[in-house]
Amino acid sequence: MKRIVAALALALAGSCGGGPKTADPPTAVSEDFTADSVAERFVKLALALGRHDPNYVDAYTGPPEWAAAAKAEDVSLDALKTEALSILAALDELARDGVDPREAGLKGLTTAALTRIRMAAGEKFTFNEEARLLYGVEPNVHALAEFDAALAEIEALLPGTGTLAERFNAFRASVAIPADRLQLVFDAAIAECRRRTLAHYALPETEKFTLRFVAGKPWSGYNWYQGDFESVIEINTDQPIYLDRAVDLGCHEGYPGHHVWNLMVDETLRRGAGWIEFSILPLFSPQALIGEGSANYGIELAFPEDEKLAFERDVLFPLAGADPALAEKLEALTKLRRALSHADNFIAREYLEGRLDRAGAAALIEKYKLETPALAARRVDFFDAYRAYVINYNVGRDLVAAYIEREKAKGADPWAAFEAVLKSPDASGVLSAR
Ligand SMILES: [Zn+2]
Repeated sequence: MKRIVAALALALAGSCGGGPKTADPPTAVSEDFTADSVAERFVKLALALGRHDPNYVDAYTGPPEWAAAAKAEDVSLDALKTEALSILAALDELARDGVDPREAGLKGLTTAALTRIRMAAGEKFTFNEEARLLYGVEPNVHALAEFDAALAEIEALLPGTGTLAERFNAFRASVAIPADRLQLVFDAAIAECRRRTLAHYALPETEKFTLRFVAGKPWSGYNWYQGDFESVIEINTDQPIYLDRAVDLGCHEGYPGHHVWNLMVDETLRRGAGWIEFSILPLFSPQALIGEGSANYGIELAFPEDEKLAFERDVLFPLAGADPALAEKLEALTKLRRALSHADNFIAREYLEGRLDRAGAAALIEKYKLETPALAARRVDFFDAYRAYVINYNVGRDLVAAYIEREKAKGADPWAAFEAVLKSPDASGVLSAR
């Protein structure tokens, strides 16, 4: 227990009311606090921010009365900013004894919340500033010319006329999963991702997920954690879904990706350690770097070497009624396209900073990520909704991969190292692999 004198304390409950209000004047008080009390203030701050920032709260499994209180109150952005700064000051005070991973995690969460508050109030940040303040890392944004080598390799696999994107999408159309077989193919893919994960992890016996097919979303798949070790996994069927995406989405959204991450955080950090900040998952925070990075790396972890190709060719292609002879080429193209993921960072940066318009951004996504016009348009929608979040998929994946490789070189089991990433309260372990 520590005592801080003259902390800026603002009782959120004291600033509620009807419409938008200005902040109550900060009051100087003395306050006893611990990491637990600071964590509780963070959760209440995050719930209140969710009223201003509808995408911010991705999941909440904490006390229902806190959520009800946040819903009933209308705390101004000014008041939220004051509270976020006060929490950061309290964390600085706690850090005088040395920073532990929990406190470092709380600092990253609160810094990100403060940044979203400032953004909601109209402040502008550069793409790189936004990435650093929200996710704890600045991307090394590659110029588009750096993707020419990967595009040339893809070109060699797809000779013919038309643009490379047209040739790639003509090939991909031959491996689209028919709508009436989506359930069958996804059930098989997720079951295999789960089987491979359970060979390494003892998950809670009651863990489960519900699979839903949806439409009209800016993303391809989403995991909604419900608490009690249950998730809803949604797959967007607006556009054709290709055979290479079934295992990708099964691992990324399910096993050993988001579903497993969420239930391990719930089991170990929230229930085991009793750390209440893990009752809320803010979408925009350094936890996203861990979440998306591990979900993408989880595909390679669960299906090393050519195991994904073998499973797709021998199981998923027949289930989808596709020609298994095409599986090898699809896998080769999928691997080459992984390098193109970083093109998102450049295109999103140029678009969000106003140097590219919507049509220009979509054209570059078609050219450098080989998407169809419809999927390129959906990606621009994603940039609009989630902005610099795109770095978590590629920079996050690379950081998790580097961390696992470093641990493997020291003799660690890759699944054990991956579990440590999933259960880390802050991103410092992963970031140390840079
Ligand atoms: Zn994800």
